[in-house]
Amino acid sequence: MMDIQQLDKKYVLPTYARADVEFVSGKNARLTDANGKEYIDFTSGIAVVSVGHGNERLTNALCEQTKKLIHMSNLYYTAPQALAAKKIVEASGYDMKCFFGNSGAEANEGAIKIARKYGEKDGVPKRYKIITLDHSFHGRTITTVKATGQESMHNYFGPFPDGFVYAKDIDEVESLLDDHTVAVMIELVQGEGGVQPQDKQKVQELVKLLQSKDILVIVDEVQTGVYRTGKFLASNLYEIEPDIISLAKGVGGGVPVGVVMTSKKDIFSPGDHGSTFGGNFLSTTAVCEVLDILNEYDASGALSDGIAYFDAALEKFYNNHTNLFTAKVGLGMMCGLRVKDSETLSAIIKNAQENGVMVLKAGRNTLRFLPPLTITKEEIDEGFKALESAVSKL
Ligand SMILES: *Cc1c(COP(=O)(O)O)cnc(C)c1O
Repeated sequence: MMDIQQLDKKYVLPTYARADVEFVSGKNARLTDANGKEYIDFTSGIAVVSVGHGNERLTNALCEQTKKLIHMSNLYYTAPQALAAKKIVEASGYDMKCFFGNSGAEANEGAIKIARKYGEKDGVPKRYKIITLDHSFHGRTITTVKATGQESMHNYFGPFPDGFVYAKDIDEVESLLDDHTVAVMIELVQGEGGVQPQDKQKVQELVKLLQSKDILVIVDEVQTGVYRTGKFLASNLYEIEPDIISLAKGVGGGVPVGVVMTSKKDIFSPGDHGSTFGGNFLSTTAVCEVLDILNEYDASGALSDGIAYFDAALEKFYNNHTNLFTAKVGLGMMCGLRVKDSETLSAIIKNAQENGVMVLKAGRNTLRFLPPLTITKEEIDEGFKALESAVSKL
């Protein structure tokens, strides 16, 4: 058999600094690599595998659907797409409609297009500026990379689309508003930027101000959405009603799906936006099953139990190692520990892998935890046991 690492190095563009491991199978929060070694997964493929690896209900639903149709086209009706939209809208509690794409960046592109069209009157762009925050992350396309408030991501790829303005933080947004501002896009918990939750009261005040000025509130829930913070949406937890919400990562349980939903239900006419793959039978069957699984998991109390158990384990781990960690951050199953320096952070991640637990890194020296939402108490215990041995070897 050809060595996979060599094949990858020879044929795949080197856009990722890959860790030295190749996974071959998984069950809920357990993973097995090509050498048969087992791991506890505190990453869920970066908040994607929300219902766990190898989820039987999800794989059965996908198998059944793929035997019938995987894809036709958005030129025709697709039953699971309409059903998935209904489930998403109902779970959100907002009066909205959905558009289906294939990724978080694409969902945010849709959000930006909705805002730009909203700012247009009689075919002329009257308002086009979109304010985003420093340390934000909104995607990797030319437009969403520009929307991302991180200078280091704006190397090489210009010229970029105009009209993105960065606020240092929520407090600075108001001073940046002008007659051209059409929207403000925020993450309620900045994920890539370091698992940093926004202050609830400040967010509520900002939303009130913006909506009084007819400036759209876009909440990027690509990472926070679909129960990651304990509620269906972080917007529910923050008790706000955004105008536009983007979802992706966890909504398909691993099948690529991006969703943008908006209360501006008449904003688009046929031809304004589209996607070949978006919302096809495969991906929206995944959404329907993932939402059924997680709605039940939430209603039964299992989700909040799991979150409380994980939080207690993390708190204990944090308190055991105040020499390494300076703060515990996050919400729900989106947690982090600020590490005293980046060398220590890298060493923890490497040792963790050797000791059989997968963890992530995020900006601002953060050790990041994004377990499957269905992680069991046994898996949590095992993962933290492995982490204890990992840090004892530092
Ligand atoms: C991951 C992420 C994105 C980008 O999603 P892709 O599917 O990689 O395009 C956008 N916004 C947030 C908040 C994210 O966490």
